[in-house]
Amino acid sequence: MDILEKNRIPLAFTPTPLVELKRLSKALGGVRIVMKRDDLTGLALGGNKTRKLEFLIGDALQKGCDTIITAGAAQSNHCRQTAAAAAYAGLYCYLVLGGSEPEQINGNVLLDKLFNAEIVWSAENRKGEQIPLLYDELCSRRLKPYIIPYGGSNAIGALGYVAACIEMMQQLKKLKTSVDAMVFASSSGGTHAGLLVGAASSHYTGRIIGIKIDKDESTSQSLDKSIVELAGQTAEDCGIKALFKEESIYLDASYCGAGYGIVGDAEREAIQLTARYEGILLDPVYTGRAMAGLIDMVRRKKFSNSDTILFWHTGGAPSLFSYSSELL
Ligand SMILES: *Cc1c(COP(=O)(O)O)cnc(C)c1O
Repeated sequence: MDILEKNRIPLAFTPTPLVELKRLSKALGGVRIVMKRDDLTGLALGGNKTRKLEFLIGDALQKGCDTIITAGAAQSNHCRQTAAAAAYAGLYCYLVLGGSEPEQINGNVLLDKLFNAEIVWSAENRKGEQIPLLYDELCSRRLKPYIIPYGGSNAIGALGYVAACIEMMQQLKKLKTSVDAMVFASSSGGTHAGLLVGAASSHYTGRIIGIKIDKDESTSQSLDKSIVELAGQTAEDCGIKALFKEESIYLDASYCGAGYGIVGDAEREAIQLTARYEGILLDPVYTGRAMAGLIDMVRRKKFSNSDTILFWHTGGAPSLFSYSSELL
């Protein structure tokens, strides 16, 4: 697929490792769990946004822009990786972050500042509501801004996970194995949409299970609908004939807990088990919650004992340092 090469700048170290979680699998009763280590994409402590940014920053450079604008929660992993990618590409970077300037600068906010990103604090708006205003202001200062939406989830960013799914299929083929289900955290939908399109293009036949991280409250449309639209657009851009429907995508909303970024017992247990059995760090907001969902599904026997489940580790560990009191 040409589109997966065009305007892509290399930011990620790929292929990311695919590893067996032998001890965790055993502790959970024997279902085989493997992990795709996209926390090791390399750029600025890694994560799934790096794959999207290869295409988004590539597009910004191709369009001759000099400034990146994006948005997220205060501890946004997307914003941290964007700030690093902008630094690498020699672009200015403005981050519109939810909340207000914290007294103690730590986790991703510390890293944003090290990458010299300009931070605009936007109180309860953490999904880019204030981007248009900032865009106009930067234009009036004769800059050429490029907007990356919240989470990097548009049809350009989603290409990162079309490519990732194809990469995974090649790894599985080499290892002469296959997976029956993949499980991952789904929040702004770009990862989910990209995987759906990548699966359609590479003949993946297992289940594609997104664990919903965020309740829909603060958005105008449901995540299911956004994912279907985004997958449709991405498939069209890739020249792949595939039909996506809300009824046929699997987005599990049972694990949103007390809401976005709030660590409960389930997330704490998932983070602790993965750390103690595998020496691998999950994060408090996304992968901790997604792994809690996977663990619950295993306990409820939603998989058969001969299944292989692939968990996408999408990164996020830098925010652990801003959650110390909730995690111990
Ligand atoms: C952004 C993010 C996700 C969710 O990916 P989306 O493409 O926004 O659905 C999952 N895990 C981590 C660590 C993230 O930063």
